[in-house]
Amino acid sequence: MSEEIIRNINTILQRIDNACALNDRDKTEVKLLLATKTVPAERIKIALETGQTLIAENKVQELKEKYEALSEIPHANHFIGHLQTNKIKDLLKYNVSCIQSLDRFDLAEKLHQRLRLENKTMEVLIQVNTSFEQSKFGVAPEGAITLTQQVAQLSTLKIKGLMTIGLLSAEPEKVRQCFRLLKTIQQQIIALGLPGVEMKELSMGMSSDLEAAIAEGATIVRIGTAIFGTRPTPDSYYWNENK
Ligand SMILES: *Cc1c(COP(=O)(O)O)cnc(C)c1O
Repeated sequence: MSEEIIRNINTILQRIDNACALNDRDKTEVKLLLATKTVPAERIKIALETGQTLIAENKVQELKEKYEALSEIPHANHFIGHLQTNKIKDLLKYNVSCIQSLDRFDLAEKLHQRLRLENKTMEVLIQVNTSFEQSKFGVAPEGAITLTQQVAQLSTLKIKGLMTIGLLSAEPEKVRQCFRLLKTIQQQIIALGLPGVEMKELSMGMSSDLEAAIAEGATIVRIGTAIFGTRPTPDSYYWNENK
């Protein structure tokens, strides 16, 4: 089982290298993030021991459950799930360095209040819904610039870029359009020159579409299935507010 994870990571690294080479990009520009929802800490450890350093959970509960077992291995924790405001306080206990799924101002405000109280700051990415699917979170593309401007006013939140989940489609061109749209929004925000706002990171691309994402400028690809195997729970459980 551990050999399989190691082999899968090597395959993914090879796919990232190939996609970078094909698009004249330096492979150091693209970080691999391990999406670890439903994966037990023991299996995540195997991946970290190969030298991977970036993992992310979708639910605060899972972050909490695995936190201690993983604390002995150096790594960074991002958060990529739908965050409810009543979980903010809990999330801040587990050393998350970046929330990639900031998608609404009320969440940003509550996060800011709590961070101020704890005298902390937090890196964030603005999550944009580039696929126009109702079941996914993210601010609508037309609202992304306004949200970025609003969040930029909150001194504890350090904006580092944008995140999106591409359309789950068998049509590569449609998937790629989502990533292209995120890149366009990034360029528009950069052009505004907002003080304190960095737009370096584009977190996009998953197991099935990382090549298209890298072609469109991804700096972080978030990979779960292709490393840890298929999950027992459908993604709708993680991407739907009502579950
Ligand atoms: C699960 C998940 C991923 C990884 O998806 P795979 O298809 O398993 O690689 C990436 N991003 C988010 C937000 C996820 O929830």
